[in-house]
Amino acid sequence: MNPVIELQDVCRTYRIGDNTVQALRGVSLSVEQGEFIAIMGASGSGKSSMLHILGLLDSPDSGQYRILGKNVDTLSEDERAGVRNSLAGFVFQQFHLLRRMNVLDNVRLPHIYSGMKGDFRRDAEERLRLVGLEHRISHTPGQLSGGEQQRVAIARALVRNPLVIFADEPTGNLDTKNSYEIMMLLRGLNEQGKTIIMVTHEPDIAAYAGRVITMRDGLIVSDERKEGPRYAEALREELPSVLRSADKDIIWGTGRISGFIFQAVQSILANKVRSLLSVLGILVGVASVIAMISLGEGAKAAMQEQLKSMGSNLLSVRGGSAKIRGSALGAGAVTRFTMKDVEAIAELRSLVKRTSGVINGSGQAVYANRNWSTNIEGVGYEYGFIRSAIPSAGRWFTPEEVRRREKVAIIGVTLVKELFGSSNPIGKTIKINRINFTVIGIAPAKGFSGPRDEDDLVMIPVTTAMYRVLGKDYLSGIFVEAARPEQMEEVKSVISELIRKRHRLHGEDDSFNIRDMTEMQKMLSSTTETMSMLLGSIAAISLLVGGIGIMNIMLVSVTERTREIGLRKAIGARNDDIMLQFLVESVGMTLIGGLFGIATGIGVSLMLSFVAGWAVKTSLFSVVLATLFSVVTGLFFGLWPARKAANLKPVDALRYE
Ligand code: ADP
Ligand code: MG
Repeated sequence: MNPVIELQDVCRTYRIGDNTVQALRGVSLSVEQGEFIAIMGASGSGKSSMLHILGLLDSPDSGQYRILGKNVDTLSEDERAGVRNSLAGFVFQQFHLLRRMNVLDNVRLPHIYSGMKGDFRRDAEERLRLVGLEHRISHTPGQLSGGEQQRVAIARALVRNPLVIFADEPTGNLDTKNSYEIMMLLRGLNEQGKTIIMVTHEPDIAAYAGRVITMRDGLIVSDERKEGPRYAEALREELPSVLRSADKDIIWGTGRISGFIFQAVQSILANKVRSLLSVLGILVGVASVIAMISLGEGAKAAMQEQLKSMGSNLLSVRGGSAKIRGSALGAGAVTRFTMKDVEAIAELRSLVKRTSGVINGSGQAVYANRNWSTNIEGVGYEYGFIRSAIPSAGRWFTPEEVRRREKVAIIGVTLVKELFGSSNPIGKTIKINRINFTVIGIAPAKGFSGPRDEDDLVMIPVTTAMYRVLGKDYLSGIFVEAARPEQMEEVKSVISELIRKRHRLHGEDDSFNIRDMTEMQKMLSSTTETMSMLLGSIAAISLLVGGIGIMNIMLVSVTERTREIGLRKAIGARNDDIMLQFLVESVGMTLIGGLFGIATGIGVSLMLSFVAGWAVKTSLFSVVLATLFSVVTGLFFGLWPARKAANLKPVDALRYE
C-alpha cells in the first residue's frame, strides 16, 4: 500500500538578511494512513518547519514531497489550497479561531472554500457534539476557555473529514486537565482511523501517539513505533477529486460569494466606528457628486427656460451687412424695411408663426415734474408673444391700437421707478417727446444685458412710433418667429429670397442680414457645461479623497487580519478567495456610502432649492452614475489591499504577530 505521505531528503532554509537558518537539512519520512505520530525535539529543531511543509503551508527548497503518491511540486497554488481544504485539518497552539464569528460559523468555515453548496450546519453540529461542545454553538471564542477553544479548533479540523490532522503543539497553551481531554479526543479520532501528525516537546503528550519521531537540528534522529497504524477508516488512494474543487469556475457556482458578503457585513460591523468614518468619506463624495450634478443640471434647465422665453425660434432681420465692413457700404445701401415687408413675411403662413416690425429710438419721458430720457421701442401686436413682453400688470396692445397708431404706452420698471416712484402708473398720462400717452401696462422685468438696462424703456405701437414720435417711414428691423425650430434654415432662405425680390436686390452683398438665436444658445450652453465640469471635478476630488480613505482602512484591515488570512489559507482559501473577500468588503463599504450619499445628495439638493431657491434637477442618470462610481471606487481602492492580502504566504501570515 502507498504511504499517505512521503518526504525524501527535504531541506528548508530561511533567509533573514545575510543570515541563513537551516531549519531542515534533509528529512525523509513515510507516513501510512491510520498512524498517530508525535514529532518531538527541542525548540528550534525544525518540528514546525516540517509540519508546515507536510500541511502544504510552506514548500521545501529541495527534496521531494509526495502526498498519496502525487508529487506536490506539480500542484498549482490553487490545487494546493484544495488539498489543504479537503485532505488536511490543522490544529494550532494558538487555536486561531476567528473572534468575530460564533463557534458554529468557525467550525463550518472550511466549507466556504470547499466548492460545495449548502450551509453545513448539520456537519458542524455533529463535529461539535464529537468534541462535547454542542451546547456552545452560538458562543464566540472569547466566551470559551482555552481547552474549549482548542476543541472547537479540532471540530473545525474535522469538518471536511480530512485524511490527515496536523497538530502543532495542540496542548501548548493548555493546563494538564485540558491537555488530557484534548489528547483523549485525538486518540479517539486515531482509533477511528484518522491519521494524526502532532508536534510536541512534552514526553507525556507524545506518549499518546503510536509512533514517536525525534528531531534535532533539522534532522530526524530517532523514529520509534509502539503501535502500528489503525485501519478503521476506509483507505484513500486518490487525489483527483480533491483537485477538482480547486477549479476556477466553482467560485461563482457555489455559496462562496454570499459567504463573503455575509463575512464582509460581519467585519464591517465588527469595527463600527472605523467603518462608519471611512464610509462617511464616500458618503460625502457621492453626496457632493449628486448635489453638484443636480445644481449643474438645474442651472442648465433654468438657462434653457430663459432661452425659450427669448424665443429659440426667433429670427431677427436687420438692415446692413452681417459682415462688418466699416464704411465700405454707404448708408444708401442699407435695406430699409417697411410695414409692407412685415405683412409679406406674415403671409408665409406655413413657415412663420408670428412676426413683428420694430423701430428703436430714444426720447424724453415726462410725468408731472419728473423727466427721464429712455429708449423708445415701437413694436407690433405679435411682438408681445414673440419676446414674452406681455405685461403682468396692465395689458398688452390690441391689434386695433397698433393699426390706428394710438398713443398708448407700456413702460419698463426702471422708468416706472424714475417717473412714478411707488405710485401706480397704470391709467396715468405721460409725455413722450411732448406727445401725451396713456400708460396701459408695466413691461415684465428683464434685468441687465451687459451694461444695458433692459428695463429702461417705453414700448409703444410701432406705427405710432414711426409716424408720430420718431418721424421715420421705415423700421429698424423685423422679428420673425419660425413655426418650427428645425425649419430655421429654410425660413431664413425663404425670407432672404422674399426680401431680395421685394427690394430688387442683386449681387453677392446683401444689404440686410438675418440672425438667429442658436449662436446665443451655444454660448450659454457652453457656459453651463464649463460650470458643470467645474462642479463635477470638485465632486470627483472629494470622491477620490473618500476612496483613499477606504484604501487606507482596507490596508489597516489587511495588516490587522494577517493571521486570519493565514488561517483561511490553511483551511483551503485560494488567493482569489482572499482577494474577493477583501474586495467585497471594500465595495460593500463604498456601496453603503454611495447609497447613503445619494440620499444625502438628493436631500441637500432639495434643501438648496427650497432654502436658497436655486434651480436643481436630480436625474436618474446621476443616481446611477453615483452608484456605479462608488462601486468602482471600492474596486479600485480595494484592489491593492486585497492583492496584498491574497499574496501573503500562509506560514508567514500565521506566524505574524
Ligand atoms: P520548532 O518548531 O522545532 O521549535 P521551527 O521549525 O519553528 O522549530 O524552527 C526551526 C528553525 O528555523 C529555528 O531556528 C527558527 O528560528 C527558524 N525559523 C523558523 N521559521 C522561520 C522563519 N519564518 N524565518 C526565519 N527563521 C525561521
Ligand atoms: Mg514550533
